[in-house]
Amino acid sequence: MALLPILNYPDPRLRTIAKPVKEVTAEIKTLIADMIETMYDAQGIGLAASQVDRHIQLIVMDLSENSPRVFINPKVTPLVEEKQPYEEGCLSVPEVYDSVERPKKVRIEALDEHGKKIDEEVEGLLAVCIQHEMDHLNGVIFVDYLSRLKQSRARDKVRKVIKIREKQGEQTADKQPQ
Ligand code: ZN
Repeated sequence: MALLPILNYPDPRLRTIAKPVKEVTAEIKTLIADMIETMYDAQGIGLAASQVDRHIQLIVMDLSENSPRVFINPKVTPLVEEKQPYEEGCLSVPEVYDSVERPKKVRIEALDEHGKKIDEEVEGLLAVCIQHEMDHLNGVIFVDYLSRLKQSRARDKVRKVIKIREKQGEQTADKQPQ
């Protein structure tokens, strides 16, 4: 397994529309395993393939820290008009958090990693998370829902965080004997 580099906002590749998965090949299975490992390493609860520059309809998620879930070719339909705010964050927009309103209850139709059908009506964090990840597959990022000012602040913040991380990376690299 391998850690995959995560694209950072405002990378234009994050705007790519994901294509459906035709078949769960060995290559897709490896990608799923790598995405799960990458999500855990980055301490995230969800990751869309778009975020690792693979533009196919694939999402991994773990809301309970020990049971990763896989959604292939997901379709998400709101079941209520009522929206609920939730403080969202994103591995592609590090250290930026803000409130986004989304429908409270949705239906998820998808396939899991074994090709088994998923058809669930969900609320709470799973409803928030699947809508956030679905957006990634459509080239949408949660900061798109915020004001222009907040979007510009998010870009500045991400730039700073990346700089700090690059510095830390260099330091760690120095310490590791080759
Ligand atoms: Zn995200």
